[in-house]
Amino acid sequence: MEGVALTMSTTPISTITPISHASSLTDIPANTNPSYMTVALAPGDGIGPEIMHAVLFILDKAGVSKYMSFQPVEAGASVFAKGETRGVTDAALTAIESCGLLLKGPMETPKGSGGKSINVTLRKLFNAYANLRTFRTLPGVNTVYSKAGINIDMTVVRENIEDTYGGVEHRLSNDMIQCKRLISAPGSDQLCRYAFKTARALGINKVYCGHKANIMKMTDGLFLERFRAAARDFPEIEAGDVIVDALCMNLVMKPQQYKMLVLPNLQGDIVSDLCAGLVGGLGFAPSANIGNEISIFEAVHGTAPDIAGKGIANPTSLLLSSLMLLRHVGLKQQAAHIENALLVTLESGIHTGDFGDTSKPSVGTMDFAKAIADRLGQTPKTVPAVVVSTEQQDGDMCYTRPARPSGPRMIRTFKNIVTSVVGCDVYLDTPHSPVALAEEMKRACQDTPFKLSLISNRGTQVWPTGSVYTECVDYYRVRFELKDGISAGTIGQSRTIALLDRIAEGFTVCSYELLRNFDGIRGFSLAQGQ
Ligand code: NAD
Repeated sequence: MEGVALTMSTTPISTITPISHASSLTDIPANTNPSYMTVALAPGDGIGPEIMHAVLFILDKAGVSKYMSFQPVEAGASVFAKGETRGVTDAALTAIESCGLLLKGPMETPKGSGGKSINVTLRKLFNAYANLRTFRTLPGVNTVYSKAGINIDMTVVRENIEDTYGGVEHRLSNDMIQCKRLISAPGSDQLCRYAFKTARALGINKVYCGHKANIMKMTDGLFLERFRAAARDFPEIEAGDVIVDALCMNLVMKPQQYKMLVLPNLQGDIVSDLCAGLVGGLGFAPSANIGNEISIFEAVHGTAPDIAGKGIANPTSLLLSSLMLLRHVGLKQQAAHIENALLVTLESGIHTGDFGDTSKPSVGTMDFAKAIADRLGQTPKTVPAVVVSTEQQDGDMCYTRPARPSGPRMIRTFKNIVTSVVGCDVYLDTPHSPVALAEEMKRACQDTPFKLSLISNRGTQVWPTGSVYTECVDYYRVRFELKDGISAGTIGQSRTIALLDRIAEGFTVCSYELLRNFDGIRGFSLAQGQ
């Protein structure tokens, strides 16, 4: 396929001038030709510029510059140093929006200066909701599994926005801190549908959902339920589920049994690093953060400050991430071409200092890149070559630059549900004993539609019944439910607020949750022991 020939800069990254103002975006031509695109490029910190330079060199040698150019953007340590706590300039954000694609190197998160992880910031800002990571046994990368002849070829799809990564945390009492775990139905739908679509595209016939729905029955229960709902639209793909702790054991014992895993954010974060360990570590684990409009492709490892500037870093993770970018935009043939050259290079024993046969001398970053470029056109002998079918080639260059949404959008799964108020949970900062607290709370709800139904501490019921062995901390949940004879839906939220007001006269109320039924089904969990 012929495209508009564009020169991709392979000058050292340090000599690429980052764009510094939004008007530079006029440099990005309109995407009138489907075979042309611009990718925002953030080289990163530490070893980032070195490995990025190596990757751009290989892409250029493989002819990718015929289809793609790169627009350097300013992000990372230099931006943090200027006092911008997001670590990315406005101009860079506008450029990334315009391109719809970002290839980034690792970036430093400043310690203790209020600067947030730029990686998390970018994923959230651009709603890159699916973190896609592939793990494959590579020749020349020795692991206990490769030595045992066990071949690993696995994809992990991790939710990227929600869960505890919302970072919603509060100190509730002297001794208690809370992190809210948020799981939504549309967020889970988006992710699970993306996973099944990807499985279909990759020819994977079984997808597993990893979860902890046996304990977190509502949050992980919802994630699992939406996974099963998504599976119904992909009948040719089998859907299984596995509790995440058992999954970790299975991955260590028999990793080859899994081809694709789908997980909520925190569990997915942990499991995907475990999977990286199975194939030789983070240096061999590429990553894509996929959104409907904007997607980010990045190496998973950090900035490796201990080896930065020495020219010895391994560019494989970033190279594999750039191949995910090529595949994302339809350049499957080019991606296969480069991946085969990488496999031949690894097969021949050429390695950087962080892996491979230590009896053979290692090469530097650029010599490793040149070795790959020299092998373009060759196919590996000891592992299957990456083959692109004619059908897939026909789909080349399927990328269209995204339209900018006109404003924040509401994504919804459930509508027209009838809800009814049935009580409230009030969270108190108090050193009272359960019995003394119960007496106070019974007095507070006199002459209201509510009765005191339970008190729990760290999720364990301590009133009306409990165990003498339960140790309490200075933070209680007090549950009030409708008195007998008062039907759900007959009182409104304001009556719970009035109760709260009365309690606040004598206690520190840390927070409050409304108890509601949704279409008659209880919308809250029971306490342990209730
Ligand atoms: P790290 O991944 O940078 O380094 C851990 C070890 O792995 C070091 O010994 C390093 O030399 C080695 N290593 C990492 N990548 C390598 C490569 N490509 N080739 C050869 N060796 C490699 O982890 P860290 O030291 O915990 O973090 C350093 C910095 O990176 C921190 O500021 C952290 O916040 C940041 N970080 C960024 C990302 C990201 O941008 N995606 C991810 C993780 C850490």
